[in-house]
Amino acid sequence: MTMISTQLSAVRQRIGAACQAAGRPLDAVMLLAVSKTFGADAVQAAFEAGQTAFGENYIQEAVEKITALALLPIQWHCIGPIQSNKTRLVAAHFDWVHTVDRLKIAERLSDQRPAELAPLQVCIQVNVDGGPTKSGVVPGDALALAQAVAGLPRLRLRGLMCIPEPAPDFDSACAVFKRASDLFAELKAQGLTLDTLSMGMSADLEAAIASGSTMVRVGSAIFGTRSRPA
Ligand SMILES: *Cc1c(COP(=O)(O)O)cnc(C)c1O
Repeated sequence: MTMISTQLSAVRQRIGAACQAAGRPLDAVMLLAVSKTFGADAVQAAFEAGQTAFGENYIQEAVEKITALALLPIQWHCIGPIQSNKTRLVAAHFDWVHTVDRLKIAERLSDQRPAELAPLQVCIQVNVDGGPTKSGVVPGDALALAQAVAGLPRLRLRGLMCIPEPAPDFDSACAVFKRASDLFAELKAQGLTLDTLSMGMSADLEAAIASGSTMVRVGSAIFGTRSRPA
């Protein structure tokens, strides 16, 4: 077994144990492997170990990998910030985008989504903890943005995503994740059809799953420590 396949199984076991502890079905949580800064060879190794969904932060770097691995049936998720001048590349190459936090970006993605591709699957990024990255819509504006995004023809709104600051312990991590899951429930109660709550990373996936995450985004626990900051 390669290191990547060994670590991938360990992460799958953590997800399974967390689902069990939360009394949730084992298939309630999807694993997104975050391959930013790692090469196409690492993605391929994880693919050969059964992983088919990958997340990338840097558009240019991602497009190179997506192009190199075009023959593999991989689902590509954009999880990095998107500037207006990158929407065309994102719309052309990715299957999912987790980081929509402005209507203008959503409109560009919808306009630029190639006609021959399925609608782009979208999560709205919410800033649940007022964290210093400043990415994400404030929770009070999430419903209006979600309703507007849901009306765009070439996007399909799937849910919410958040990246809270690292919490000191399990309970405080859960308290922050719960704000996202409460908001998720509120949006559904307002009539939006949502099935994805993207939250939890290598360090806090157990707390995210305990709080209702349906998709965890895991990088270093699968691929190892990143040599450049990300
Ligand atoms: C890098 C990154 C991850 C993965 O982080 P790890 O701590 O390596 O698991 C998840 N989500 C986003 C948005 C990221 O940028």
